[in-house]
Amino acid sequence: MSSPKNTLKNSGPRVRFAPSPTGELHIGSARTALFNYLYARRYGGTFILRIEDTDMARSTEASLRNLVDCLTWLGIFWDEGVDESNPLDSSLEKGDHGPYLQSARKESHRVAAQKLKDLGYAYECNCPPQAETGSTKCRCYEKQDELKSIPVEQKSLKFRIQPGPPVVVRDLIRGEVMFRRDDIQDFVIVRADGHPTYNFVVVVDDAAMEVTHVIRGEDHLSNTPKQILVYEALELKLPEFAHIPLIHGSDGSKMSKRHGAVNVQVYKTEGFLPDAFVNYLVRLGWNDDTDREIYSIDELEKLFSLEQVSSSPACFDRDKLLWFNGKYIRELSDEELFKLSLPFLTKFVDRADLNMSTREWLTGLLSLYKDRLETLNKLEEVMEPYFVDPKSYSDELLRKAKVTGEAFRALLDIKKKLQDVEWTVEQIEKVVRDYTKEKEIKFKLIAQPLRLVLTGSLATPGIFETLYYVGKEPTLRRLEYFLANYQSPG
Ligand code: GLU
Repeated sequence: MSSPKNTLKNSGPRVRFAPSPTGELHIGSARTALFNYLYARRYGGTFILRIEDTDMARSTEASLRNLVDCLTWLGIFWDEGVDESNPLDSSLEKGDHGPYLQSARKESHRVAAQKLKDLGYAYECNCPPQAETGSTKCRCYEKQDELKSIPVEQKSLKFRIQPGPPVVVRDLIRGEVMFRRDDIQDFVIVRADGHPTYNFVVVVDDAAMEVTHVIRGEDHLSNTPKQILVYEALELKLPEFAHIPLIHGSDGSKMSKRHGAVNVQVYKTEGFLPDAFVNYLVRLGWNDDTDREIYSIDELEKLFSLEQVSSSPACFDRDKLLWFNGKYIRELSDEELFKLSLPFLTKFVDRADLNMSTREWLTGLLSLYKDRLETLNKLEEVMEPYFVDPKSYSDELLRKAKVTGEAFRALLDIKKKLQDVEWTVEQIEKVVRDYTKEKEIKFKLIAQPLRLVLTGSLATPGIFETLYYVGKEPTLRRLEYFLANYQSPG
């Protein structure tokens, strides 16, 4: 057992997020990480990232990298743990309670297992693996002498549940939860292949890392009594426990793919803003007893508390998440929106080729869409007309835009007038308005057809801005193409 270090730099709570790198970061795990992070910040504590990679068969480097990328994308940074860019390189870890990869802590696990055995809390078992997992009652405890002669690679080590009073989990969110010992079965702590199991190593590592608060998903609640017994057996100080209720889908069942993407990566790719996503995540289970919805991460770091985490499940609602995202997009400065948009516009713009004027042009153009964007991945579609000429116009849209004979004539006239205009929004507006006055025609008669011909769509920002951002040459070219290829209905 590694002795607790008495070099605590920080007297606040020590919390940890302890994911297993066996898949992409799940939305529920991201929320667990966030709650731990906020708890540490709120109370001046330390947030640890420990990677529980003891399931060698299922742990992958890709998952580990995804985990680290998604956490940093969300702005959830850890004080101690693996390195962000090289999570497998233990020489780069931060913190003095490492190693933070569980697989590198084997020696302390071995020592703790031996201690449990020596103290009579653990016994050898040669039941087949199905029985190891607890479905059948095993009798190995009674025949330890007999088992001595069996080679060690054929025996697992089991923790023995001794008779006694119920195990009480004092949970900071749910209050006291009792577990009768009869309902807890002896469980494997080291498999026959030598690998230690979660309920055992989590205790050894949490204790060695001096974790004071274990904040995790409610799916682990039934593991906690087993872990408490291991703490007691090893004479370790119990941490506080807080189990966060699960995230459900709209139909009340546990959130799954049916209810929306469960991996954080998908939301990143879709163009959710990390701040919006974090704000939505925290609201899945926490509120400060007001109707307020919008909180910056800085505010959350000052306000978050476990007392205000609900004890009933939170309900995932994609529309609400979209609402949060739209709201955050609208709050962005034009410059911020421009920067965040570039990764979603690589089809049209090469960051390296951007000169000052294209940069200004694109920044202005994007700002026109701020009010109507829900996710940034929609940009590729809505920006297309500013980069590519429309190829065809459907009959349906031509009808909707009311491209009548009169409109055709107006388009022809406008095209001529635009040829000589100085290309500013004001001058474009003047030409179009003067023309409608002169001909005594309604502005609408010309605005919708122009919008359609220039962009292939009827949903664009104001028509003068649209013309301006499409640009003079493309405007004239598109009008020309349309007038030459489509017939006036008379
Ligand atoms: N590795 C476990 C998991 O990902 C950790 C659970 C815990 O926080 O104790 O579920």
